[in-house]
Amino acid sequence: MHRATKIVATIGPASSTPDVLLKMIYAGLDVVRLNFSHGTADDHRQRAETVRECARQAGREVAIMADLQGPKIRVGKFENGKTTLEPGQPFILDAECELGNDERVGLDYKDLPRDLKPGDVLLLNDGLIVLDVARVIGSEIHTTVKVGGDLSNNKGINRQGGGLTAPALTAKDMEDIRTAMSLAVDFVAVSFPKNATDMEMARQLANIAGAPYGVKPKMIAKIERAEAIPALQEILDSSDGIMVARGDLAVEVGNAAVPALQKRMIRMARESNKLVITATQMMESMIHAPVPTRAEVSDVANAVLDGTDAVMLSAESAAGKYPVQTIETMAAICVEAEKSEHSELDKDFLDRTFTRIDQSIAMGALFTAYHLGAKAIVALTESGSTALWMSRHWTHVPIFALTPRVGSERAMSLYRNVTPLHLDTSSDRDTALQQAIEVVVSKGYAARGDMVVLTVGEPMGQPGGTNTLKIVRVGDVL
Ligand code: PGA
Ligand code: MN
Repeated sequence: MHRATKIVATIGPASSTPDVLLKMIYAGLDVVRLNFSHGTADDHRQRAETVRECARQAGREVAIMADLQGPKIRVGKFENGKTTLEPGQPFILDAECELGNDERVGLDYKDLPRDLKPGDVLLLNDGLIVLDVARVIGSEIHTTVKVGGDLSNNKGINRQGGGLTAPALTAKDMEDIRTAMSLAVDFVAVSFPKNATDMEMARQLANIAGAPYGVKPKMIAKIERAEAIPALQEILDSSDGIMVARGDLAVEVGNAAVPALQKRMIRMARESNKLVITATQMMESMIHAPVPTRAEVSDVANAVLDGTDAVMLSAESAAGKYPVQTIETMAAICVEAEKSEHSELDKDFLDRTFTRIDQSIAMGALFTAYHLGAKAIVALTESGSTALWMSRHWTHVPIFALTPRVGSERAMSLYRNVTPLHLDTSSDRDTALQQAIEVVVSKGYAARGDMVVLTVGEPMGQPGGTNTLKIVRVGDVL
């Protein structure tokens, strides 16, 4: 069954053995997310090695995304591990408190008191607990509990409406970037960026740390703070893609604002030739149950209809009871939703302009394949750009991207409607095209007599060199 939408799954205690991971790959896992908010460098190293080994066994590339913790602001620890807050009671967040009790708790971000003023609303533990700021006295933030509940060690803090100034990259993130680059990860997801500068800084650090390993990862900006919304275009321009990080975003902008923002973010990402991942609580109930709720099914399907490149799993696959079934179920929902999607390529094309030769060939190939009803597009690509441009528009024609570069092959695991395949291309154009068709046929994606649209660059082997479009029937002599 051909599936265009990709699946990103976080791995953790429930999914780190070769046995489970291999089943997840067979079930449709495209990109593994290593969550640097949890676990040690050794955990991540071991997991990355297991992923590479399982991918080898499964005979296809699986990409790895390192997701940095970022400046998530958290309360400190409690004497008894937690406290229970009652509505109306006073509670103090104190930057100088070492160990919390029923009256106060410490903060890992010591400057938080400076960022707050009376009247601010703080949301703790993903918004389950709400505190009204009454006043700030030195290191102490005096609050009144508005919505109570259990507050345990290290729970996150957000301010309603955003506006906290913690810098995007912490010392831990910088160390984690070095670890991630030594594992040759394909994507780095940056948490809580506010603007283009945050993303440029992260990219620079990743490229420097990646240089000894020959790695230049794609950079994904997690859109999860209120300030990132007005800066979305500049963040897109400075990144390779974004994540609709609905967990923290919902806390900052309010749950109700998120669905419309998701649609806008997906549209803007595609129009900017960037990638987009839709994340958080997509199959939440499958942490405990073998089937999703109707609402979750609709959520995944709607993200597909919005045009997301990928849907993402967090605790469902990292710590849930049914990591393999969750991926199987998600894959089936995607396939079904894609069937119902009609494409309007002509309308979509009208306001586009492009000046690059390779991009013109990519657009020409897509337009041609769509109107001729070709069975497949077969793109020989070095950097993967041709496949990226073509994948920013939805048609039902699958795109097979053949590349000799393993880095490009892995990166393309995230591109919607693109199946990356390995091909050590011949330097002779027609031989290379013939080999490419053979690979696609041998995998069962096309058969004798099928019309396919080919793109290639001549001379071969140059990134950005695509300059040729060819339409053939499988079996014809090239
Ligand atoms: P997280 O990011 O899982 O790292 O918090 C995703 C989100 O906030 O939705
Ligand atoms: Mn988050």
